[in-house]
Amino acid sequence: LNLRLIPYSEQQWLLVARDISKLMHLEQVRRDFVANVSHELRTPLTVIHGYLELVEPEDAPTLAPVLGEMRAQSRRMGQIVEDLLALSRLEVQEHAQEERVATSPLLATLRKEAEALSQGRHAILVRGESDRDLLGSLKDLHSAFSNLVSNAVRYTPAGGRIDVLWRDEPGGGARFSVTDTGYGIPASHLPRLTERFYRVSSSRSRETGGTGLGLSIVKHVLALHQSRLEVASEPGKGSTFACVFGAERVLAPEPGLSGGDAHAGE
Ligand code: ADP
Repeated sequence: LNLRLIPYSEQQWLLVARDISKLMHLEQVRRDFVANVSHELRTPLTVIHGYLELVEPEDAPTLAPVLGEMRAQSRRMGQIVEDLLALSRLEVQEHAQEERVATSPLLATLRKEAEALSQGRHAILVRGESDRDLLGSLKDLHSAFSNLVSNAVRYTPAGGRIDVLWRDEPGGGARFSVTDTGYGIPASHLPRLTERFYRVSSSRSRETGGTGLGLSIVKHVLALHQSRLEVASEPGKGSTFACVFGAERVLAPEPGLSGGDAHAGE
């Protein structure tokens, strides 16, 4: 049942109760369908990908020009399937796992990933201004943060700059942000960015290996952590994507582990 209590007049309230069983059932069917299709596609794709990797371009010179493209496309399909499965898993989950997520090593990993993806084309700065950790799921938070970092690299032309920052917020919370000097996003697209397969430019997304599912994953992970996504962007100037966590999700550093090498500097 969906219940809504609406102020009706000065001393009256209106209670509207709706039976949404059918809607919930349809939602469930949709979720199961996506999860099952993704799961069924996984094995055939792995086989195709495996055989494609076995063929050497020298062994089949006539196929050489298309072989690279076939490999890239099968990798892309594999990534879409993995992302859909990740989304299905996140959708049915009600609570995030509650473990200490150490932010210093996480920032160090994100930096390595960004550098590998950028291949020296961008200036990448990672700063851990706060020494506090997070309470949640390492796997999911890593996936959300690395989606934001990978978007910043993919939507910033060579020579641009990417700033990753972890800092405290007034009121006891903390904030993870990724700022780039890339293409930016026109304001009219911002409200729809986290929809599945929504892209500002499909060609650019495809060229850079996007699946169109990254920001949906980010949205779901943040919802499980009662965190919100803030996006500020200006076309031609760049974007900032920030995950804001409340005080209940932020942990003081573990005694004895602070300072020194643990910090991901610049
Ligand atoms: P994709 O796999 O296409 O990158 P996402 O869900 O991660 O999918 O992002 C959705 C769309 O939002 C992208 O296709 C792109 O148009 C836009 N976008 C995301 N991050 C950025 C960014 N840092 N700068 C510019 N555009 C971005």
